[in-house]
Amino acid sequence: MTGMGIKLSKARCRALVISCSDFRFVSAQRQARLDLGLNNAYDLIARPGGVRQIVLPTSEAARQTMEEEILLLFELHHFQRILLMNHMTCGMYQDLAGRREEEEVHREHLERAREILAVRFPGLAVETYLSVIEGDGVGVVPLAGGRKLRSAGAK
Ligand SMILES: [Zn+2]
Repeated sequence: MTGMGIKLSKARCRALVISCSDFRFVSAQRQARLDLGLNNAYDLIARPGGVRQIVLPTSEAARQTMEEEILLLFELHHFQRILLMNHMTCGMYQDLAGRREEEEVHREHLERAREILAVRFPGLAVETYLSVIEGDGVGVVPLAGGRKLRSAGAK
């Protein structure tokens, strides 16, 4: 079978990204990852709610699956950065916060997930980001540990 013209990456894995699955934020978050220097060389765990299954899991099975996947990818690829990317208007946070408190809850969860992963993976940089709605666009805001986004060009 011939490929699609896109080659298998031989790059070194730069990071693990944990984000929500929500399609509305895929383009903006992918661009942010380019702007953050990941150059598409990252592992991605996309689950509804992003870091929620680390901090306040909906079930023990969900918590365990998330933990196993993070550990598996680390053992395979030895990335040095973990990027945690939650977003506003997340369906998985509707039961936790009204619109007014939602940002506060995301900030709290991102910080707690950062602490949990920093203990689990000492020496790794754990960065947190929150995607916010700006007019009809999306902005990705660096929070604790997060780096400034530098435009990597073409969207
Ligand atoms: Zn979401």
